[in-house]
This record gives sequence, structure tokens and C-alpha cells, in this order.
Amino acid sequence: MRTPLVAANWKMNKTQAEAREYCRRFRELVPRDFPVELVLFPPFTALAAVREELSGTAIRWGAQNVHPEPKGAFTGEVSLPMLLEHGVSYVIVGHSERRHIFGESDEFIARKTKAVLGAGLSPILCVGERLEERKAGKARKVVEEQLSAALGHLTPEEASRVVIAYEPVWAIGTGVPAHPEDAQEMANFIRGWLKERFGNVAEGIRIQYGGSVKPANAGDFLRLPDIDGALVGGASLDPDSFFSIAKEAVP
Ligand code: PEP
Repeated sequence: MRTPLVAANWKMNKTQAEAREYCRRFRELVPRDFPVELVLFPPFTALAAVREELSGTAIRWGAQNVHPEPKGAFTGEVSLPMLLEHGVSYVIVGHSERRHIFGESDEFIARKTKAVLGAGLSPILCVGERLEERKAGKARKVVEEQLSAALGHLTPEEASRVVIAYEPVWAIGTGVPAHPEDAQEMANFIRGWLKERFGNVAEGIRIQYGGSVKPANAGDFLRLPDIDGALVGGASLDPDSFFSIAKEAVP
């Protein structure tokens, strides 16, 4: 039985004060025994504030990005030892905005994945095709290449700590989600790929859907057999909206 994981990717939004206000409201909403794992991904500058507000609750927090090297001349980057000081549990790697706006390669994403696991944390690896790739019938091929590059060299133990977010690029921030049947079909394909590589471990690996998830459509995705949660951008910026989505993941 996989515990659903619903995550809030705030992207480049919220000051420390706004993050605190959000966490205070969110804490009020989430019951102690809530059966869904909840993770907030604030910008780096709000991690300390989020940690202060959420320590002692079951809600976790993570980082939206990381550099694979532990330290050095990488202006503007943040390392794993720095993130560990902030008590993060998860790190997002390979988000489509990192791949396509900042030009991150599969090879760089693979290094990040390995480094995150090496630090004892869990990566949320984002994979997904662009619209032209889906239209050309290449969606599976693209996703398979992304999986293979980032996870192909991992041990089954390492793979068991990975979360995969299937996020079709054309659905992110557009208000146009994937068809639930297409999301299930891809999640099932991903699980099949994981099974081939890692055997039974694949049954325990969580696969999220991401891309224009809102309270009104979350249930359509979160009830699908191979989808174990959601990675939510825009609709996670309001705590009530995000919690409405999370409630749809309750088994
Ligand atoms: C995301 O940023 O991962 C995302 C899915 O964004 P949105 O929910 O806004 O489409």
C-alpha cells in the first residue's frame, strides 16, 4: 500500500512573512492523523520560516532545486549540506521549468538525483513530454529516456526512495490538465519500466500527476490506480485550495 503524497510547489512565490502566514493556516486545516503525506516546497529564502512553523507537525518541507556538488564556485547555487541544515525531506529534480527555461540536461538531472539520494533525502523526479512530442506519438519515448537517464544507474534500494512526478509540459500552469486516462496510461507505463529495472520495489514507488491540478479536478487523478498523489503549482499557493486537493487523495 503506497501512502499518497501531495506536494505544493510554490515556485518563485512567497516572502518569509507570506510563508509563515500560509503555514499557520495550513497547520490549522490538517488533522494530526491525516492519512496523506503533505510536503511544501517554498523558495530557498523561506525554508527557515517554514521549518519554524511546521516543526512538530506531520507536514514536511523540501527544496525546489539543488546543485549536485557539496560546495564550490557555483555562484547562485545551493548545495545539499545547506539544505540538510534546513531539515528538508525532499528535493524536486528535473522540473520542466528547470529543464526548459534553464536548460538542464538529463545528465545534470541524473547527477542531482544521485546526490540527493546520497544525502539520505528523497528526490521527486519530474518527467513529461512537450505538446509536439505527444502529438508526434513520442510521449512514452521521451519519458522513458528521462527515466533511464536519471534512474537507470540506481540500485533498487535507491530507487525505492524516489518519487516520480509525471508532468506533461503542456499541462503545467496552463489550466489544461491531461485527460485522466492518459495520465493513468503513462503512470502505468512508468510503473512497468520501474518493474523491469528494479523488480518488486516498483510496487512501492510513488508516482504523482502534475499539471493544472485544482480542487475541482484533483479527484479525477487521485483515484487512478497508478497515481499516488499530485505535484501542485498554482493551486497550492492558497492553503485552503491546497488542502481541498489533498483531501481528494485520502484513500
Ligand atoms: C508544477 O509546477 O509542477 C505544476 C504542476 O504547476 P501547475 O499546478 O500550476 O500546473
